[in-house]
Amino acid sequence: MYRTKTCGELRINNVGESVTLAGWVQRVRKMGGMTFVDLRDRYGITQLVFNEETNADLCAQANKLGREYVVQVVGTVGERYSKNDKMPTGDIEITVTALTVLNASDVPPFTIEENTDGGDELRMKYRYLDLRREVVRRNLELRHKFCLAVRHFLDEKGFLEIETPVLVGSTPEGARDFIVPSRMNPGQFYALPQSPQTLKQLLMVAGMDRYFQIVKCFRDEDLRADRQPEFTQIDCEMSFVEQDDIINTFEEMAKYLFKEVRGYDLGDAPFLRLPWHEAMRRFGSDKPDMRFGMEFIEVMDVLKGTGEFGVFNEAAYIGAIVAEGCAAYTRKQLDELTNFVKSPQIGAKGLVYARVDEQGNVKSSVDKFYAPEVMQRLKEFTGAKPGDLILMISGPDAMKARKQLCELRLEMGSRLGLRDKNKFALLWVVDFPMFEWSEEEGRLMAMHHPFTSPKPCDIPKLDTDPASVLADAYDMVCNGVEVGGGSIRIHDAELQAKIFKTLGFTPERAKEQFGFLMNAFKYGAPPHGGLAYGLDRWVSLFAGLDSIRDCIAFPKNNSGRDVMLDAPSFVDQKQLDELMLDIVKE
Ligand code: ASP
Repeated sequence: MYRTKTCGELRINNVGESVTLAGWVQRVRKMGGMTFVDLRDRYGITQLVFNEETNADLCAQANKLGREYVVQVVGTVGERYSKNDKMPTGDIEITVTALTVLNASDVPPFTIEENTDGGDELRMKYRYLDLRREVVRRNLELRHKFCLAVRHFLDEKGFLEIETPVLVGSTPEGARDFIVPSRMNPGQFYALPQSPQTLKQLLMVAGMDRYFQIVKCFRDEDLRADRQPEFTQIDCEMSFVEQDDIINTFEEMAKYLFKEVRGYDLGDAPFLRLPWHEAMRRFGSDKPDMRFGMEFIEVMDVLKGTGEFGVFNEAAYIGAIVAEGCAAYTRKQLDELTNFVKSPQIGAKGLVYARVDEQGNVKSSVDKFYAPEVMQRLKEFTGAKPGDLILMISGPDAMKARKQLCELRLEMGSRLGLRDKNKFALLWVVDFPMFEWSEEEGRLMAMHHPFTSPKPCDIPKLDTDPASVLADAYDMVCNGVEVGGGSIRIHDAELQAKIFKTLGFTPERAKEQFGFLMNAFKYGAPPHGGLAYGLDRWVSLFAGLDSIRDCIAFPKNNSGRDVMLDAPSFVDQKQLDELMLDIVKE
């Protein structure tokens, strides 16, 4: 038997027991005639002690152990002389009587401790060593607990977990597909699913009624901190439901997960439901961070045409936020904010500010263009109090200016410590527009996906004013992160065909790409809808992580590479020949 106990379970009441432990050497410390070894496994760390006086040979062996050696020890549990109340096993130690090295280890490329000296890239290359660190391992344990709770909740609600294929057909809508060549069908390709969207709808046509799957999805997109080319969804679909049924079910699920997995009570009150247009107007975002206020105030009426400031006079939008108590910001702080909004990622032309001093006087960066009364009106209009700082962004494109102001709001929220990782603010954003205009494609695109149902009252507008049509689509947002999204689906072949037409598909192409779905709708498709939660985002929110990478066992880097496996990689000419593929050299 390799072990009778783990490295995390012995306590003071085990004193006197004879035990066998196995694990990794975390550290060896020699103090006078004693040698102490920290032995680690997944469950914890136990201190081993070797005494030169009582067993010189054994102690000499212990002194030769290196970091990360795998060893087995036999010994007796004793009470520690100097206890460590930071460790669950800190009251005891093992006086070792036999030591076996099960496997030696090279010196690890970084120290496997909470505060490691290893940089990101190095830790990714040796991810199996990084995963030995408690901080990383805990994230995977949390992920496991989260998945168990998900399965428990959905099972209780009658959902069936059903697997869908990973090799599917390529669909042109949405993100770019990862494609896989088929050897048996030369010249043809599978795609990896961006989500099992159409398949789960077919499961509803099949009468499965309630489906879920914890499923890998693949999107060949440019990567950011909260994106991975492969990520995991908790994908759900329900039949005979309206939007309220779905929202209620998944709101209950969110509350359950928060309580069970995070130990956080979201309370009984229903989540706020914020229409998309209102979210954009008040926060410049379809995923507003509601942990703090600082809502947008549109100040066009106050500042456009009331002074000589050309930028405002030509603007389609002038928006303000009030940063409470920030009137004393220094020149340097204001320059930092200006540089922040002017950075290429944000792209604003500039930042206008107005300080309200303790007497209530307003001093602004555009004073020379406006009469003092106008600035007083600005103060009243925005509700700024003495000591507050008004920050303004404007632009010729209202949507762009709002997005820039949104970034500034988030930055100010962070600077003012209003984005506490241990506080959670959830809401639904509802009533999304059905379509958005794509400059790149020169046509309307589905904002959610083409299977989303327009609001029934808006269906007549599909012919006259499609851009104004709203959809039965909803996102769940937590702390400024979209943690889930879904919609009521179209279940009528004719309406589906009409949406494809609005999206610029010819009937032939729609049939070629989505004939299977429209055909299925001819055989008694029930009304249905659903949602997908982003598992990685949920777990990283619960763990307080900045990046979803840290809750994924083997993540990819920002260029989509797995640096440990060194993938993607070139393949043999033989493999290419079998697939009848040629690599075109540039
Ligand atoms: N399939 C959708 C997505 O991946 C979610 C849904 O509509 O259920 O965003």
